Amino acid sequence: MSGDEVKPVLLPDNVRPQKYDLHFNLNFEKDLFTVDEKIHVKVAAATKELQFHALELEVENVSLRLADGKEVQPSSQAIDNEVLTLTFAEELPAGELDVSLKASAPFNKNMTGLYSYQGVDGDTPRTFACTQFEATDARRAFVCIDEPTAKATFNVVMTLPKDMVGLSNMPITNEESGDSTKTLHFGETPVMSTYLLALVAGVFESVEAVTKTGTVVRVWTPLGRKGEGEFAADIGARVLDFFAEYFDIPFPLPKQDMVTIAEFAAGAMENWGLVTYRETALLFDPAKSTTAAKKRVAEVVAHELAHQWFGNLVTMQWWTDLWLNEGFATWVGTLAVDYLLPTWNVWTNFLSMYTSRAFDSDGLPSTHPVEVPIAEAREVNDVFDNISYCKGASTIRMVHSFLGEEAFRNGLRIYLKRHKYGNAGTMDLWKAWEEASGKAVSSLMHDWTKTEGHPLVTASAKEEGDVIRVHVSQERYCTSGVTEDMKKQKWFIPINVVSSNGDKMVFELHDKEGEFTVKKANWVKINAGQGGFYRVKYDDYLMKGLNEALSKGELDGTDRLGMVMDISALPTTGDIPTDQVCKVHTS
Ligand SMILES: [Zn+2]
Repeated sequence: MSGDEVKPVLLPDNVRPQKYDLHFNLNFEKDLFTVDEKIHVKVAAATKELQFHALELEVENVSLRLADGKEVQPSSQAIDNEVLTLTFAEELPAGELDVSLKASAPFNKNMTGLYSYQGVDGDTPRTFACTQFEATDARRAFVCIDEPTAKATFNVVMTLPKDMVGLSNMPITNEESGDSTKTLHFGETPVMSTYLLALVAGVFESVEAVTKTGTVVRVWTPLGRKGEGEFAADIGARVLDFFAEYFDIPFPLPKQDMVTIAEFAAGAMENWGLVTYRETALLFDPAKSTTAAKKRVAEVVAHELAHQWFGNLVTMQWWTDLWLNEGFATWVGTLAVDYLLPTWNVWTNFLSMYTSRAFDSDGLPSTHPVEVPIAEAREVNDVFDNISYCKGASTIRMVHSFLGEEAFRNGLRIYLKRHKYGNAGTMDLWKAWEEASGKAVSSLMHDWTKTEGHPLVTASAKEEGDVIRVHVSQERYCTSGVTEDMKKQKWFIPINVVSSNGDKMVFELHDKEGEFTVKKANWVKINAGQGGFYRVKYDDYLMKGLNEALSKGELDGTDRLGMVMDISALPTTGDIPTDQVCKVHTS
């Protein structure tokens, strides 16, 4: 089946929730939770059936209130294949109605949905609870339409043990106190997707920092360890300031909480206004932790906070676009850290972490395109790998280098402002970048995200009077050799070139080969700044100049690393003598 035939499996769009009222009662003694729900829905055309997602939930007391105030009960209800179907004897009229129900389940034990885990209360182990809904596990905690485009507002109420801290996406607006429990009312969220809703209940202490515009960024840690949250709170506030300016949109929520979860499957999760982290991605102890650990905290915090706009304010249409959500957050998170902590040279980290990993996976004959069409949302967990994540991020880096900073940023602002509080697909972003730059972004991205593999650019040169004529050709790079089919592949490659006299140019290679000239110079570097996701092989003439540049320290950090990455990779395909590799490594 070709990619274009893969269609998302969705619930009928006849019924769309507008608002959820959710009262969660967390009962740690009985190891279960209940949720009293009221879902305000819009029905587009009269129907006898309502469908929602629900998984491993016991659902009871379902009742409808129609716009005219009439109460209706379903004649039958059934959960099958994660879908709750409510059937009615009479047709429900088009218009708005409220669905009320009660759902309950034991706390999940596999770090998904609404799950309980072992935390610590001082020195004592104690059971806490939190949520992890991406991609399709909100349906384990409450009845909902669990699709990214089914955006709605949420009023969360949480009843929990009195001595615990309760957190959700929005600030607490009201608190009621019982004998051993308390009930927290949180403010209504903006319209958002279900996978970004979050709840946390546990024993924590906090430190906070404030952005320039007064938004409080709070880091929640186990008792006695709040000092370890100071770095994340501080960098978090500065990152929010950076993004508000970069995207030209103020931070969309009244507060930002970041909390450490003792048992957590991923590195972190970007829930809107309440990011959850595993400890090592959030806490930093200046006395004990390494600089590498500090860098990781900065990178993960910046990545998650980038999502507060890119992903949460504007959300992907469907899980097929998850690579863009993640690739972009990784790229722009690196941009933020580089801006705030320039001495860390995080772009060389980016190259050795993401681009290099992407090259490794994408150089194998078994690789796949960045964009893999997904039918069932749950499949996203299987297809999301190094290629989607690391090559996706590297592809964004290439667009940035192709468009230049100003057009890239302007296009991004167009995209975010146009689609805020809504959903958008990859084409919407390419279109915005085309508007801002006048360049053919769609055709560039088609080659790099919808086809597998990447090219090796072979460059040779000769002097002609006062210029150097450079010939470039492209062929797919594959560790096990190139097949006849691979030989037919070609990419639109924007080739950035820099020479020893500081001249810079971009040569757009659309065909299998091409030529350009540069003013005579001691050396010419292809893929200047390592913005492009391709490997380069130089002839002896170009290599000689570059070797000299390396030994004199004339190439910057990213170009130097790029040379090493290229040359180290080429012997495996039998393309370059090993002594050339050694020359670069030792310089
Ligand atoms: Zn992410």
